[in-house]
Amino acid sequence: MEKIKCLIIGSGPAGYTAAIYAARANLAPVLYTGPEPGGQLMLTTDVENFPGYPEGVNGPQMMEDFRKQAERYGTDVRNELITKVDFNGDMHKVVTDMGHEIEAHTVIISTGASAKWLGLESEQRLMNKGVSACAVCDGFFFRGQDVVLVGGGDTAAEEAVYLSKMCKKVHMLVRRDELRASKYMQDKVNDTENIEVHWNTEAVEVLGKDLVEGVKVKNNATNEESVLEVTGMFVAIGHKPNTSMFKGTIDLNEVGYIVTKPDSAHTNVDGVFACGDVQDSVYRQAVTAAGTGCMAALDAERFLVKKGIA
Ligand code: NAP
Repeated sequence: MEKIKCLIIGSGPAGYTAAIYAARANLAPVLYTGPEPGGQLMLTTDVENFPGYPEGVNGPQMMEDFRKQAERYGTDVRNELITKVDFNGDMHKVVTDMGHEIEAHTVIISTGASAKWLGLESEQRLMNKGVSACAVCDGFFFRGQDVVLVGGGDTAAEEAVYLSKMCKKVHMLVRRDELRASKYMQDKVNDTENIEVHWNTEAVEVLGKDLVEGVKVKNNATNEESVLEVTGMFVAIGHKPNTSMFKGTIDLNEVGYIVTKPDSAHTNVDGVFACGDVQDSVYRQAVTAAGTGCMAALDAERFLVKKGIA
């Protein structure tokens, strides 16, 4: 069986940053890209808030750059999936979809999270053509325009307030007659003049051929349909951390995110670390994911030094 010092699962900004640091610390990391190589940024067009790119950068191009930088220092990047983990022994065992078995002294989990979508065909077709799941990433492109935002939780409320500062009007679609968001965020939404909350309202179709031109909505109390003329639709109905494989092996919180110890990337299992969106439901930015990736690699290196392995 192959034995390695550092295994990284996932290939978003967190995983690649962990790989860059681990490789430069001579841990000879092996990184498994997972089912969506590059992670959520592969679904983005322009990234304009990642420091160091004054002109902005295309999301897939940025992930290609991350990968090249990780490989330049010797990371072994493998386009395979880890399908099984066993964190019970001193060495952590994993199995890939090709049947390869590996034992690792340290494992860094950076499997990310996936945005939840409404599941409309038109939503998928117009993704990145006016449909987005990230107001902080894409709101800027809708300055002075009218947009729809779907959702009624804290994320939706925060994103509605964020968008209200740059958009002319934000139509917030809430499927029930109340918000799930905290009282504080509810007050902020209510106090913002250019947010209009549409209660009991669902998006049924995103209109437009190549770009969003409107959203057809339905009031689920009256069944009445109407069209909102907007150029963008933001979906903020929650995220799902990619942790199903780790259930029962490490501590997850009540909604499935990996729990890390305060101010570190340590999980409750010795030698297993987590970074990026898989352990962060609050910030969820490429730059914060990269920051925690760095933390995970430094924590893994210190762990190995203490054990006399690095
Ligand atoms: P959430 O709390 O699960 O809220 C999801 C919202 O989307 C709910 O209003 C839900 O409606 C709605 N929704 C779900 N599926 C839908 C669908 N198919 N169609 C239409 N609407 C749909 O998710 P979240 O807002 O991302 O927050 C996740 C967690 O992070 C929460 O615990 C939240 O408090 C926390 N958070 C905290 C902060 C902060 O403290 N600053 C910021 C953001 C998030 P229903 O209410 O009808 O189910």
